[in-house]
Amino acid sequence: MSTLDSARAAARAWLACPTSGGPNPVWRTCFSTDGTDCPTGIAPVCPDEDHDPDDGSVYTCCADPVIEVGSAALADYLVALLNADRSAS
Ligand SMILES: [Zn+2]
Repeated sequence: MSTLDSARAAARAWLACPTSGGPNPVWRTCFSTDGTDCPTGIAPVCPDEDHDPDDGSVYTCCADPVIEVGSAALADYLVALLNADRSAS
């Protein structure tokens, strides 16, 4: 197993525990609780049909976890990476 495969498996095992968006959710950037004006967090796409997909806020309807990564650029990258990697074994 490659380093990437090992890291992916470990991260998925961790994400499967606290994630309420399903075992392999689609991710989005979000405005977390760090107080900045940029979406510096990542979270699963909210499963609530009343939550506008273009609304990057986090409400009680939203799936866990909300992960603050400290950078909008890093949040964009992690979401792209996680979503591109969803179908990888
Ligand atoms: Zn929501």
